[in-house]
Amino acid sequence: MLKSRLLLFCATAVLSIGGAARVIDAQPAMDLTTAMLVDLIRIDTSNPPGHEGAIAEYLAPKFKTLGFEVDVIQTPTPGKSVLVARLRGDGSKRPLLLAAHADVVGVEREKWTVDPFAGLVRDGYVFGRGAIDFKGGMAVFVRAAMMLAENKVPLARDVIFLAEADEEGGLSYSTPWLAANHWPKIDCEFALNEGGWIMKGRDGRVQYVSISTADKMTLPIVMTARGTSTHSSMPRPDSAIFALSRALARLADHEPELKLIPSTRQFFQTLSKTSPEPMATQFRNLVGSDAALARRADTEISKDPLLHAIMRNTIAPVIMNAGFRSNVIPGSAEVTLNVRLIPGTDPMDMVGEIQRTIADPKIDVRITGTSSVPAGLVPSSQDTDLFRALQEAARRQFPGAEVTPYLFQAATDAAPWRSRGIPVYGIYPYPIDADDLSRMHGNDERVSVESLAQGTQMIYQTLVAAASRR
Ligand SMILES: [Zn+2]
Repeated sequence: MLKSRLLLFCATAVLSIGGAARVIDAQPAMDLTTAMLVDLIRIDTSNPPGHEGAIAEYLAPKFKTLGFEVDVIQTPTPGKSVLVARLRGDGSKRPLLLAAHADVVGVEREKWTVDPFAGLVRDGYVFGRGAIDFKGGMAVFVRAAMMLAENKVPLARDVIFLAEADEEGGLSYSTPWLAANHWPKIDCEFALNEGGWIMKGRDGRVQYVSISTADKMTLPIVMTARGTSTHSSMPRPDSAIFALSRALARLADHEPELKLIPSTRQFFQTLSKTSPEPMATQFRNLVGSDAALARRADTEISKDPLLHAIMRNTIAPVIMNAGFRSNVIPGSAEVTLNVRLIPGTDPMDMVGEIQRTIADPKIDVRITGTSSVPAGLVPSSQDTDLFRALQEAARRQFPGAEVTPYLFQAATDAAPWRSRGIPVYGIYPYPIDADDLSRMHGNDERVSVESLAQGTQMIYQTLVAAASRR
């Protein structure tokens, strides 16, 4: 554990100019997690195509040196492989798995002020695509697992590190493929993945640590309006584009109702204790028994898009398609809706809600793919050694911070485990603030060096508590 605190000083060049020694490029310390994140960012795994195999190649020898059993699983796509590194325990308990996706989303390079793939360390931050999502998490998980080997911690259970492919795009060889083809390699008692947040308040202190126990489901829905295809000089009343526009306008004014699952209630109770007024009262009212106060609180709290999203199902139009030339009225118009469902919602209920809202039976509303998360999935239990270990490590690392379960507003690739009844807990394992968060999937993504070190300690302590022979 102490090793990660040791600071490795970058080579310092000493120049002798006119007889006087002058120190240049005196880069301050880079701890091992930061150094690993810099390396990981420099391996461009923008998906598509991903090229996650380069990450597997980078990590495999490092794990082997420390005594991990390493499998590099080749997918049918060249350059796309998955790494599984296992540190053996005595087998008296079932394995603990750490999962991190190796791919990242692409960049709008012209909008970045730094090279997104240079791994620049500046002003106490590591900049680059994936700094938060999720190469930072990968660096923390890898270092924490390696520290178990370095410190020769006697283990009761295997600790498995998994570098996944196709989480951010492609999806062909993401975790469902891995689970279908190589389940024994990733079977475990419980797992850690991306998900919740270690949020800093305006004063820079960690306000709360949220550990996700469930993800919202993604549901692709297409609405299609049909009308007469004809010459645009003679419009008719049945314009497909007008009909679709009216339907969309109704959807725009429609707010799905408040739907708080138990972990979301706990999350807002935590916020009511850790937030300044007047928001503390709003959070309290939201989970209180007065329905009118709760509705008013919802209106205020929903100004935050993230909080708005974890309280209800959401409907976002994302792609429109209609028409092909200016002198033809098209016979159809369609819109793709990206719908995100609170766990436990029946997808067909959402189709019904959309149909009632648009109130036009001539418009076809169809689910066009499978939900990313099975509909009946229950949130992961908080009554496990891993949840308790993470909760305790978080409290120790960030004294005064509240720890709470959380419904993750997006979808992760945890479904293959959760659908087999295996608990998965999600965390981005480093303190971030609202500014850092807004850069995730955006521009100048960054994570602080101090946060990486704190997160590594927290995850290492979690692993020791949950996996060691005690
Ligand atoms: Zn991610």
